Amino acid sequence: MAGHSATEGWAPTGIDTSVPSIARVYDAMLGGKDNFAVDRAVAEKVRGVLPISKESAWEHREVLARGVRYLTSQGIDQFLDLGSGLPTVQNTHQVAQAANPKARVVYVDNDPIVLTHGRALLAGDARTKVVTADLRDPADVLSRPEVRELIDLDRPLGLLLVGVVHHLADTEDPAGVVKQYLDAAAPGSFLFLTHFRSQPPTTDALEQVFLSMLGSGRFRTQTEIEALFEGLEMVEPGVVELPRWRPDGPLPQATDGPSNLIAAGAGRKPA
Ligand code: SAM
Repeated sequence: MAGHSATEGWAPTGIDTSVPSIARVYDAMLGGKDNFAVDRAVAEKVRGVLPISKESAWEHREVLARGVRYLTSQGIDQFLDLGSGLPTVQNTHQVAQAANPKARVVYVDNDPIVLTHGRALLAGDARTKVVTADLRDPADVLSRPEVRELIDLDRPLGLLLVGVVHHLADTEDPAGVVKQYLDAAAPGSFLFLTHFRSQPPTTDALEQVFLSMLGSGRFRTQTEIEALFEGLEMVEPGVVELPRWRPDGPLPQATDGPSNLIAAGAGRKPA
């Protein structure tokens, strides 16, 4: 975000700069400025294992925009973006409202720094809100006044879980959490989700970095990721590596490279 130096002096009250945060590490991987030395140390370590991690992070932002554009093309005009992260470029509300100026977006993140920066970006935007909440508690998220004000659960919505479900441990029942949101959503709603996909041995080393330095970051198998879409009609081409999910240009060739380390998919809740 513009206007900050990357020194620790700008930290808003209540932000702990002594431990890395997922949102700030991701910002560091994207080359942003809303991060501290402790976050950059994790990003650096990831880069040591995966030299093209910055490109992967940007591929991830691009697939988010394609996912939002696809959902708007299907008539979706309200979005719940869970684990939304720090604002950067092509944020969900900007992409959605470029397609449909009346589109409404609620960003949900459990890191308070997201709210601090979101407020500045969204001042005066009545169709977009930021909520600090833990997505692992769907009942709490769905009862928040901002969510109730902007999201009509009786109409189809776009549920975005981009780059966040891999931060839920197996013991936290990620599939069960996703299902609670889908159960609350109207038929015709879409889930758009991306997830770290295991590809040993590279991902074993990366998982070690994430788990040891950040406390979360699970690489799950294709089958485990597909299970998160249970009960939905899958959108073509299914769960695939990021560059192959509905690219704007020609379909890239399949690769065994680092692009494979994150997969994306979308599914529609049937009537
Ligand atoms: N979705 C954005 C994107 O793809 O650019 C940001 C992804 S970032 C890797 C993951 C975000 O999820 C972080 O901002 C982190 O704070 C948030 N997050 C992690 N666990 C969460 C939880 N239990 N509840 C809400 N947000 C969470």
